[in-house]
Amino acid sequence: MPIATVNPANGETLKTYEAMGEQEIERRLQLAEATFRTYRTTTFDERARLLHRAADLLEEDQQDIARVMTTEMGKPIQQARAEAAKCAKAMRWYADHAEELLADEEPANSDVKDSGASRVRVRYRPLGPVLAVMPWNFPLWQVVRFAAPALMAGNVGLLKHASNVPQTALYLEDLFHRAGFTEGTFQTLLIGSGAVDEILRDERVKAATLTGSEPAGRAVASTAGEMIKKTVLELGGSDPFVVMPSADIDRAAEVAVTARVQNNGQSCIAAKRFIVHTDVYDAFAERFAEGMKALTVGDPMADDTQVGPLSSEQGLRDLEELVDDAVRSGAQVLCGGERPEGPGWYYTPTILAGITREMRIHREEAFGPVATLYRAADLDEAVLIANDSPFGLSSNVWTRDEAEVDRFVRDLEAGGVFFNGMTASHPAFPFGGVKRSGYGRELSGHGIREFCNITTVWHG
Ligand code: NDP
Repeated sequence: MPIATVNPANGETLKTYEAMGEQEIERRLQLAEATFRTYRTTTFDERARLLHRAADLLEEDQQDIARVMTTEMGKPIQQARAEAAKCAKAMRWYADHAEELLADEEPANSDVKDSGASRVRVRYRPLGPVLAVMPWNFPLWQVVRFAAPALMAGNVGLLKHASNVPQTALYLEDLFHRAGFTEGTFQTLLIGSGAVDEILRDERVKAATLTGSEPAGRAVASTAGEMIKKTVLELGGSDPFVVMPSADIDRAAEVAVTARVQNNGQSCIAAKRFIVHTDVYDAFAERFAEGMKALTVGDPMADDTQVGPLSSEQGLRDLEELVDDAVRSGAQVLCGGERPEGPGWYYTPTILAGITREMRIHREEAFGPVATLYRAADLDEAVLIANDSPFGLSSNVWTRDEAEVDRFVRDLEAGGVFFNGMTASHPAFPFGGVKRSGYGRELSGHGIREFCNITTVWHG
């Protein structure tokens, strides 16, 4: 894949970039290692001051960087602005909380005594340069949710961003630099995915985090495994959205639309499989379809656009194939099911019903505005369908029945259960999945500790 900005709204190539060569990569790895030697000794106060400054600058740049993101990957401009604001908030949250999250821990006195020590502490020390392989769908947020905790912990970052968002990738390096972080603290490597393996094998790189597809995750994790390096993986999702009879059906249907089409349907935590109790199935399906049909699809730069184009022609083709496969096997199209006429990689918001296990869309992630609808006879069947997926990122349940709440929390195979609302990440809450959605956690105290050397300090 060439490193280039190609506008998904019309397919026009706006800017192409040469990939960095071996010498430049070597220079940057040396710089990362040298910078880490001093950066690791900085105080939390110093790091926090710089990260606050980065948040301020990002807010000043909000309009411009939002336009860059929308141009590169097609998200509606309002959502691009919101993404920039969310990144500033996460930077401030980590700037304000990192010291407390990484404070020394003191084991219980009885255990200290039992070990024969006079004193024991657990200290969270940084690991070194961490490689971040990131996707295009939230081109700022995916990076910031890695970078803010990593830099506050005293690590330095090396970003390999997706090849279709080079301007956003370069902006991020520049942002941290302007904020006052020394040059090697956060660097963007303009490279294709083929160059990742060798960098990951380099002994100066201590760990890696990847957000993206399963094949990319598998490639990075297997090399990291060979090299005995820590990884965090955030891969795809096909989150269930369960609606039970006690739910507010109007509200559930309204939120279902947003949960499915946010970011033009290209979000790992978008609700993708809608599993509805038979008693409220018809009412929900009707309202959900009305909502999907009413969406404004069009130019992502327009303020009132709710759904823009998919990020790439390949992404559009993959989505079309999933829908065609389902329809050939008997799925009913409640709305959409086609690409509109005209330029750009658009797909009409779609709902498919009558999904069976044989259909690819039942098992694979639909990365675009396509929802699948299932009818469940009761709670047990709803849980069975929800868990019948290789993925386990998050989940959504609509119910007002407390006994049902307990059952879903106990039984859903996912890294999150969101009741009467849609899944959204927040800096203070852990984020990540189980099964083939990956492992490890981002955000919160759990996220910042992933790339730390958890050190036992024992005094005799
Ligand atoms: P990829 O997983 O291919 O891209 C994500 C990142 O991984 C990019 O930086 C990419 O680089 C890099 N990458 C790809 N292959 C390798 C490899 N073998 N070794 C090292 N790095 C690699 O996602 P796509 O854009 O191709 O999207 C395909 C599907 O992945 C989507 O349809 C969706 O299902 C899923 N996906 C999930 C995301 C999520 O948020 N969980 C985000 C994006 C995609 P480069 O761009 O240079 O190829």
